[in-house]
Amino acid sequence: MITKIVFSLITLFTFGFFAYTINRISRLFKLTKKEFRFDRLAERATITLKVAFGQTKMMKRPLSGLLHAFVYWGFLVITVGTLEMIIDGIAGTERCLSFLGGFYNFITASADIFASLIIISCLVFLARRYITKPRRFTGVEMKPSSRADATFILGMIFVLMVSLLLLNAAYVADTEIRHGYFPISEGIASLMSGLDTGTLQMIGQTNWWIHILLVYFFLNFLPYSKHFHVISSVPNVFFTRLEPYAKLKNMSSVTTEVRLMMDPSATPPPAAAEPERFGVKDAEDVSWKTLMDSYTCTECGRCTAVCPANSTGKMLSPRKLFVDLRRRMKDKGPGLIAEGKSFSDGKALIGPDYITEEELWACTSCMACIEECPVDIDHVPFIIDMRRSLVMEESKAPAGLTMMFTNIENNGAPWQFPASDRLNWAQDIELKNA
Ligand code: SF4
Ligand code: SF4
Repeated sequence: MITKIVFSLITLFTFGFFAYTINRISRLFKLTKKEFRFDRLAERATITLKVAFGQTKMMKRPLSGLLHAFVYWGFLVITVGTLEMIIDGIAGTERCLSFLGGFYNFITASADIFASLIIISCLVFLARRYITKPRRFTGVEMKPSSRADATFILGMIFVLMVSLLLLNAAYVADTEIRHGYFPISEGIASLMSGLDTGTLQMIGQTNWWIHILLVYFFLNFLPYSKHFHVISSVPNVFFTRLEPYAKLKNMSSVTTEVRLMMDPSATPPPAAAEPERFGVKDAEDVSWKTLMDSYTCTECGRCTAVCPANSTGKMLSPRKLFVDLRRRMKDKGPGLIAEGKSFSDGKALIGPDYITEEELWACTSCMACIEECPVDIDHVPFIIDMRRSLVMEESKAPAGLTMMFTNIENNGAPWQFPASDRLNWAQDIELKNA
């Protein structure tokens, strides 16, 4: 009875703290701009099945993609077993989902196999971080804390899986009539055949508690780490931009102005409220989806690895943009919540402390980063919005562009001569009738 009460209280605290954290994060999202993303639901569901659950974009790098898929698919299956453990812990039952019969056997067998595959994956991932060290795991944005975070999570997942196999093995070794099917744990159980019931129960109970307490800790640690993508990647993919990557959004107020300039006889539309600020200068100017992108970034570096600007030595790293946005919102968000929109800490997202102008102007808009990102993060519209702020709010642009802007304003074209001179080059050409 005491055990049930203690476990129930721990469970209550775990989910209470998780709800508190999610509420804190959602208050940051309320600071951002609204953007409608509930259209074409069937198409969104298909993309989610393919990209998030099917892990298709991960498979572009087959080995790491497959190992990551083992971890992800295993996480989905093992979650069913975790739910069973929570119910068992609160109600004092044992293997309460065993009434599912054949399906229960399927779930337990899959979880058992995936647990061992996840152990192998964790070891390979750790070896990759500490021995082979791919270049994409380096960069100015990859602080020692990023590596520590990854190592800590991998270590935690490793212990979670080992404890799961050990608790199942002890259960198999100790029970004659058992529920479920455990192909891997059966092998481990055969090594425990000489142990008495008391020892087996002690191994089972200890690993049960280690496993469930780690799950609870894991749940509450995720929102404070880059591994928040475990929770946010599915919604992030679901709300992806459905237009072709290269179709960038115009600002309707500016489009109207240009149309009226080109055709002064056109009737101006009813005046709409002017945006408070053009583009994105600071964290609160982004849309909720861009902020979600930043919380979903796994820091895998796949975008940076394919970025032509980065590989030719420019300062730009597409991953850094989202790492910086997340950092900026963490730095400024609490002040905005406490003091309102007027809050200022004297810094901004575009500036020496976060994203520099040099990084922004290095982007060629090739879209390779979007194509590569396994969780459908949308880099280029974010970059364009920050450039908009530089150009339209601060009149800052590289010299080559400033000349082009002047030409467009004066000549209606990017060249340095008026439209009436455009055919001058053909003046001396004699055309013969065919
Ligand atoms: S779109 Fe820009 S940031 Fe993305 S890969 Fe191309 S150059 Fe790099
Ligand atoms: S933006 Fe996407 S590809 Fe780039 S580091 Fe983040 S998750 Fe990886």
